[in-house]
Amino acid sequence: MPKGKGIHQAEDAASAGFLRQPKVRLKSGDRVRFHFLSTGEDDFLGGGRFHMFPQKTQAGKTWTKEVLCVRAFTDGEEECSHCDEGHDDMGNRFAVWVYAHFVLHLGDNPNQGEGEEPWAQVKMGKRVMFKETIDLPLMIWMPYGRGFIWFGQFREAVVKYGTLLGRLFELKRVGSGMQDTDYTLAVVKEVDLEKKIQKEIDKSDVVITIEAAMRETISSGSASPAPARLSEEEEASEEASEDEAPAAGDVPEMEEPAEELV
Ligand SMILES: [Zn+2]
Repeated sequence: MPKGKGIHQAEDAASAGFLRQPKVRLKSGDRVRFHFLSTGEDDFLGGGRFHMFPQKTQAGKTWTKEVLCVRAFTDGEEECSHCDEGHDDMGNRFAVWVYAHFVLHLGDNPNQGEGEEPWAQVKMGKRVMFKETIDLPLMIWMPYGRGFIWFGQFREAVVKYGTLLGRLFELKRVGSGMQDTDYTLAVVKEVDLEKKIQKEIDKSDVVITIEAAMRETISSGSASPAPARLSEEEEASEEASEDEAPAAGDVPEMEEPAEELV
């Protein structure tokens, strides 16, 4: 992914941390298209209970540092220093590895002033959206949702298809606050992840077990984890409207999801 340079990179590094875990980050209206890198019944999908610590970046943005509660994770076998200190602001998170192909945005790349390219336009029905190529293994890392409503869609996919592999999926976020955020998981179509991509992932050591990834939140120190934007509130000014952007002439068409998982 293109990154800012110089002063921008330096600022991001200090505010978001160097040990940034590779997570999918969606804002309101964004849709990520991906293949799961988990069958749904292996070590690459999992959940945990986290101690939540509110933080503020030097730029003034608030976010929540999530530290795995190892006592809860191991059913009391391991000691948790935060529990011992009486800390009890906790939340549940589940995570799964995916290969993210691209994210569709309602608006164009906001970082073009920092030397980044505009995103390609695509047509979704009558609306133009902006396609940011990702092409990376990332974790979807998110709250279970009220009454397990978000997690339930992932469970439904496992139950319905027997495996999460072999299909192109879309996860869409609407809303940006604690109260109005919602996520929808949908199948776009039945198609395998390209063999070439699968081979590259198998060769690299990026995709660790979810347990290992969750345990990394313990060792990563006080200044490091990146804002978990899937679960955070955002400033309303960053939002684009669903109604904007009329379709132009020769913009390529993008397939709509075939089936939602509810
Ligand atoms: Zn604990």
